Amino acid sequence: MTTAEKLPVSIPSADQAPDAPSNQPVYSYFQGQFVPLAEAKISIMTHGFAYGTGVFEGIRGYWSESDQQLYFFRLQEHYERLHQSSKILLMPMTLGVEELIALNIELARRSNIRQDCYVRPCTYKSSEVIGVRLHNLQHDTSIIIQAFGNYIDIDRALHVGVSSWRRVDDNAVPARAKITGAYINSAFAKTEAMQNGFDEAIMLTHEGHVSEGSAENFFMVRDGKLITPPVTDNLLEGVTRVTVIELAERVLGLDVVERSIDRTEMYSASEIFLTGTGAQIAPVGEVDHRQIGDGKIGPISRKLQLLYFDVVRGKVAQYKHWLTPTY
Ligand code: PMP
Repeated sequence: MTTAEKLPVSIPSADQAPDAPSNQPVYSYFQGQFVPLAEAKISIMTHGFAYGTGVFEGIRGYWSESDQQLYFFRLQEHYERLHQSSKILLMPMTLGVEELIALNIELARRSNIRQDCYVRPCTYKSSEVIGVRLHNLQHDTSIIIQAFGNYIDIDRALHVGVSSWRRVDDNAVPARAKITGAYINSAFAKTEAMQNGFDEAIMLTHEGHVSEGSAENFFMVRDGKLITPPVTDNLLEGVTRVTVIELAERVLGLDVVERSIDRTEMYSASEIFLTGTGAQIAPVGEVDHRQIGDGKIGPISRKLQLLYFDVVRGKVAQYKHWLTPTY
């Protein structure tokens, strides 16, 4: 089967993603209720808006035509990470992981989503006050859903460049928490990369080790081993990252090594790919104008892509427990 048949290429890209059909209101979960998205509004005084004091998740739902089913991928892990991020920002969540999963599913049902989609839960400091701090503030949780295709082109090998912007350090803005305000770091890197003619940025830590892309974790193949930076190199502990580690080890029988990676090691890699809920598995063909392998999608990257898309669409029995059906 060709990639074009296998991958969800017919769906518009993120910036073109349409709203759900106009006769069907898209709902959001907002201030404890399901309301039409157009009614979910916060004040410009909101702390999270002014200071970036929020945490969020990005979750994908995959429509299976054969099963006539919408599967959400690894909801448990995403909502556990939301809890971890909230704790770091001193926002103990009243909604438990199971309740959040139930709200996620109910939101998709009410919006009658029957295509690939993206869910963005957010817990944010909702107090309408001036004063930069984390303590003595109210917080609230919202969830939105929208139709969603590819976030980045995954049918060709991307050209990436090392960013002049360093990854935020755990002692400054912890990347382990998915903090809304921290995404200014990613935005600087992504825009610089695109304005310089690259598709995506690779950010280094302050020590000069490879950390991650603007919204993706990093993997490379060297001497047949799959190598990825450790979680102590200022990265978001990606759900796709642990998924790929599991699939590479258990299904493809590869050795996976978590260790710090130097910049020029990337130039010597036989394959590189980036992983993320949005990016899925995005192969890289050039780093800093140095060709990786033959510059095309590498064999391990391709195998992992195909396996990943089978898993997320419910075609691999062994990993069906990662999926939550909607209907
Ligand atoms: N790093 C960053 C900075 C991200 O924004 C994302 C996307 N959430 C990732 C890595 C990948 O994480 P996940 O696989 O959980 O989507």
